[in-house]
Amino acid sequence: MRNSVVAIVGRPNVGKSTIFNRLVGERISIVEDIPGVTRDRIYSSAEWLNVSFRLIDTGGIEIGDEPILVQIREQASVAIREADVIIFLVNGREGVTAADEEVAKILYKSNKPVVLAVNKIDNPEMKEQMYEFYSLGFGDPYPISGTHGLGLGDLLDAVVELFPEHENEDEKEDTIHFSLIGRPNVGKSSLVNALLNEQRVIVSNVAGTTRDAIDTSFNRDGQDYVIIDTAGMRKRGKIYETTEKYSILRALRAIERSDVVLPLIDADTGIIEQDKKIAGYAHEAGRAVVIVVNKWDTIDQHDKAIKEFEEKIRAHFPFLDYAPIVFLSAKTKRRLHTLLPEIDIASENHSKRIETNVLNDVIMDALAVSPPPTKHGKRLKVLYATQVSVKPPTFVVFVNDPELMHFSYERFLENKIREAFGFEGTPIKIFARKRN
Ligand code: GDP
Ligand code: GDP
Repeated sequence: MRNSVVAIVGRPNVGKSTIFNRLVGERISIVEDIPGVTRDRIYSSAEWLNVSFRLIDTGGIEIGDEPILVQIREQASVAIREADVIIFLVNGREGVTAADEEVAKILYKSNKPVVLAVNKIDNPEMKEQMYEFYSLGFGDPYPISGTHGLGLGDLLDAVVELFPEHENEDEKEDTIHFSLIGRPNVGKSSLVNALLNEQRVIVSNVAGTTRDAIDTSFNRDGQDYVIIDTAGMRKRGKIYETTEKYSILRALRAIERSDVVLPLIDADTGIIEQDKKIAGYAHEAGRAVVIVVNKWDTIDQHDKAIKEFEEKIRAHFPFLDYAPIVFLSAKTKRRLHTLLPEIDIASENHSKRIETNVLNDVIMDALAVSPPPTKHGKRLKVLYATQVSVKPPTFVVFVNDPELMHFSYERFLENKIREAFGFEGTPIKIFARKRN
């Protein structure tokens, strides 16, 4: 299930950044340290009582020299589109201002759940100052103090309470959700259209517009799919929504809801920096990945064409070494039929479970072939391993001392697991835990 998303909205100086930092605790970047992938902070993860959610960094919604009112409107509209719950923040020391009323009007029309928080209530005596905020029409205001960290627990209780129940409950478990991501003009819309017009594909439902993507359900040879299409939503014309940051935000939302993510590469223009960044998001999210090289019709079709292009991709995307690559043309439909089978395999591997005894046979064989390393004269002992979850497959290896588990040995174990069980198309995660 995807994490719910929370946004903090309010005019400048009410304390949004202060609260954001409080809630996030430590700032977590959305992309891990992959060489060549730029760090970007759009979402941050937060947790409250074992519920993890994502917080949109509204501070990232800056649009240059626009007047404050325009900025506030933009920020509110992004929050409305992206968030499941909105924290409407006001300043208890200044009372209700015209800008607060403006924000209230926009949020009121949105029908999104809103929790009103009155900030800068640094001590209990100041609670008197909250009452005028009832006039904003969002029910009981929550008194908080960002600087002193007061009232945040009650606020978060209220926020978590409003999180939506499981989305898509009516959909079958084995439906494969996938999305196409890539920079503008790589051919995302063309590929969606080509897929949906394939002969054996039966489109059952185009589910209007869910927030920021068009979901289309279809069936092919008995398998149900939902394609999450963000490309069709591109030209809204609003200021912030045409920025690169916003398109990344939208791609991230699509990735979150996907089982399989398809980063598209344009064979005609080749791989550029932005492609790496986008593919990095798919990897980071732990989704299954199938790399698609589109516009294959523009490439001179000599015998080594595929091999040469594949080498380029492997060199540029070393972190996606598990992902199969499909070469196709959305335009001529050449090799289009090879795509869905790869999606099926990647999805199956993404949720594959390995029995503990079978897994341990493989691990013990690996240990025999290549004994664990030593560090400062101490040798790593691997006791046993078990798979703890799927999507992506996640393994815990119990060892005498996790400090002794070197990255390269972890990589070695991963390779052995892959050799034995063929996790093509999915990342796998391995954690070392102490057990005496
Ligand atoms: P933003 O523009 O809405 O992101 O607001 P900031 O988080 O940058 O805060 C604006 C100012 O309010 C800063 O000087 C903060 O130190 C101050 N501030 C934030 N929260 C509190 C609070 O709970 N109490 C007091 N007294 N000041 C606060
Ligand atoms: P998007 O921005 O990623 O959705 O890309 P579009 O689907 O709008 O395609 C961008 C351009 O690339 C359009 O002019 C398409 O006709 C063209 N295009 C898409 N797929 C192919 C392909 O397989 N081969 C060729 N030659 N052109 C393509």
